[in-house]
Amino acid sequence: MDVASIKKIPHLSSSAISDFLSCGIMYRLARIEKLPREFIPDALEFGSAIHRALADFWLAKKAGHYMPITELQQKFESYWTEAAKDNNEIKYKEDKDFETLLKEGKELLSVYVSSIPDTNFKVLAVEEPIVFELPGVIIPIIGIVDLVEEDSDGTVVITDHKTAGKSYPFDDVNSNIQMTLYGMGMKQNGYADREILMKFDTLIKTKIPKFEQYYTSRNSEDEVKLIKKVQLACHGITSQVFLPTQETWRCKGCQFSLACNAYLLS
Ligand code: SF4
Repeated sequence: MDVASIKKIPHLSSSAISDFLSCGIMYRLARIEKLPREFIPDALEFGSAIHRALADFWLAKKAGHYMPITELQQKFESYWTEAAKDNNEIKYKEDKDFETLLKEGKELLSVYVSSIPDTNFKVLAVEEPIVFELPGVIIPIIGIVDLVEEDSDGTVVITDHKTAGKSYPFDDVNSNIQMTLYGMGMKQNGYADREILMKFDTLIKTKIPKFEQYYTSRNSEDEVKLIKKVQLACHGITSQVFLPTQETWRCKGCQFSLACNAYLLS
């Protein structure tokens, strides 16, 4: 099944599950009522443009070609321009605009290309769509794995590309819901008998851009605990229990704060 097809089937995704667990009201407004977002954070479009450029980079590698840095930067410029040029819905952070982020993106990609270890892993898939089931969860889970590689021992390495404003906290690396789900999902999508390692390749938008790579893995206890959380989330969604977050920092950057205010006052 291709990426467009899997999005058409009734499903849950790691971002939907994370949204529900982070704030039930946000889940309801975005995914049940399908209200338009009140703005688009610059980081969202920026991350998406970097993501698309990296997908092209790894597809070229899969086909046996090395994409030069200038071409990778041109890809990013094209995706960023398509998404952000003259787009008034994007809300930029202080001191940021289209041009500054264009420059930052090119610098980040330059750091990325000069920093990624030359592992000679074999590229098996790029943007690999997966559909899988979890016990006690009535709806399939879908995901798209950024990069699937195989090392010389036959271990499968799945990578998630991230852009972030700071280093990724170690606890988050080891508890990230998306990676736990994708590890389970890969086993139901042709990799049942393979050892699976996970890594985050993170492009960090600090004043001096940097690249950090974090390897992680999951054990059966991690999987059992996440399955329970997804079962509870699924039960909450079908029972229409949408609780607000108590993390006030989350509300500050919320794309539904006006709609949420109106909902809570209704
Ligand atoms: S403003 Fe806060 S409580 Fe309301 S939807 Fe957004 S994150 Fe949730």
